Amino acid sequence: MHKEGKMLFETIAFDADDTLWHSESHYQDAQAALAELLAPYGVDAETVQDALYHIEVANLPTLGYGAKAFTLSMIEASIETTSGRIRAADIQQVIRLGKSMLSHDVQLLDHCHETVARLAQSHALMIITKGDLMDQERKLAASGLGQYFQRVEVVSDKSTEVYSAILKKHGIAPERFVMIGNSIRSDILPVLDLGSWAVYMPYHVIWAHEVAEVPVETQERFFEIDHLGQLPELVERMENEHIS
Ligand SMILES: [Mg+2]
Repeated sequence: MHKEGKMLFETIAFDADDTLWHSESHYQDAQAALAELLAPYGVDAETVQDALYHIEVANLPTLGYGAKAFTLSMIEASIETTSGRIRAADIQQVIRLGKSMLSHDVQLLDHCHETVARLAQSHALMIITKGDLMDQERKLAASGLGQYFQRVEVVSDKSTEVYSAILKKHGIAPERFVMIGNSIRSDILPVLDLGSWAVYMPYHVIWAHEVAEVPVETQERFFEIDHLGQLPELVERMENEHIS
């Protein structure tokens, strides 16, 4: 463990969905179930997928991210793709599908618990996540990780301005802040923009809206890992190489 004052990172922040615990796979499962529900109306899976994506993105400015917004978008997509033919009983199924997303088990990613526990011994840890406040709080409580995080921020969006405001609020210097996440667009680019450090950990599936190019201009503050088990060693290496 490093001595206080010699550490590069004052705070290590984690994205939550698909970084600490599985999330996108639940959305994809719900989308597959929706396609199955709409198949008897003569709507094919690709049409459902396209309509849902376009409705979700159009709803972002007013509904934001998370399972509740997703549920409303699924209902809208059902009505749109069936040209209003969907029966109330099937809309009820869609609502049930959405609600089930708010109560599913929280499954941690591989190496999550031990890595978080280990880093919490040497660093202040934070979660920065977007989504439904209640749902994110529920998942954090169910994850058993709550004790390791000193700060939890549930935000409406992850822009450079939002990260900047969080760092200011907690008095964290950008050059002593590192963010770990699975979305280049939400977890990596805005943080690099601020002069902070970023660790990208791809998840096997990602929502199309989160897809972005891996940055090339800020390579020295950008790192990539395959799984959370590699993080403690990477943090140690980053600190050893960049302080003195
Ligand atoms: Mg994520």
